[in-house]
Amino acid sequence: MVGADRATQVDVRSMDKAETEAGMLSDTPILPSESTQGEVLRLIENLNPDDRLHGILVQLPLPDHIDENTIIEAINPIKDVDGLHPINMGRLMAGRPRFVSATPAGIQQMLLRSGYDPEGKHVVVCGRSNIVGKPIANLLMQRMRGANATVTVCHTRTKNLPEITRQADILIAAIGQPNYITADMVSDGVVVIDVGVNRVDAPERKRGYRLVGDVDFDAVSQKAEAITPVPGGVGPMTIAMLLSNTVNAARYVIHPDTTH
Ligand code: NAP
Repeated sequence: MVGADRATQVDVRSMDKAETEAGMLSDTPILPSESTQGEVLRLIENLNPDDRLHGILVQLPLPDHIDENTIIEAINPIKDVDGLHPINMGRLMAGRPRFVSATPAGIQQMLLRSGYDPEGKHVVVCGRSNIVGKPIANLLMQRMRGANATVTVCHTRTKNLPEITRQADILIAAIGQPNYITADMVSDGVVVIDVGVNRVDAPERKRGYRLVGDVDFDAVSQKAEAITPVPGGVGPMTIAMLLSNTVNAARYVIHPDTTH
């Protein structure tokens, strides 16, 4: 973690807690926000060969003066449990995933374990970030169990977004805009995965804000067959999949032939 704010530190602590509860070693080096790119790279270079650690996660976003791609590409791909290294992204695209980004992996598991297999469904993904939109679209379009969906990806240049979102059997919102997806943008019976975590002012609260998703939960839940809450939906699944990816990373070290 590099110069993270207090809220991010709280998030990271809940990740640490989950790891410790699962009996895993967890260590979170925190570098000051003014650290140079070289200093962050040196930390990763020290963590890469550390045999006690099977997974390395860089908390994003990084401060503006540090190039995220350079840092992500410095992680040993075999320890890249958030699946962001180009090798792991490429493997996912090629249909041979090793580590799938934790949030997309959690979304897939949530759908499957709630009885909403995406196979044959029209999945509309709003957002095309490397961390959520692109990998979830890639994952659900694969020819594999738990995928086989027809996927449409939308972004800020998409024309007539509501017309497309209304065609969704499964709508995945990952745009970072509070309550943006309104009831008129969905059809009855849609299954909604709300990835967004947005702060809105809440002067009545001690901390001065509350968290809301990208979806207008109260209105959309009236039409949806199923919908994830914020907080408490995608977030905990992300943590669970990070732990799962880390266990798999440890297995790869023991049985390296399973990486192919
Ligand atoms: P990001 O990097 O900011 O990307 C946002 C994407 O949404 C971009 O592709 C952008 O399009 C698109 N977008 C923004 N406004 C839009 C609009 N009005 N209509 C259509 N598309 C729009 O965000 P991110 O990292 O993917 O995160 C998205 C949200 O998920 C954030 O709230 C973040 O906090 C949350 N998140 C939650 C978790 C979790 O574990 N719960 C994990 C990761 C992220 P362009 O490409 O055209 O700019």
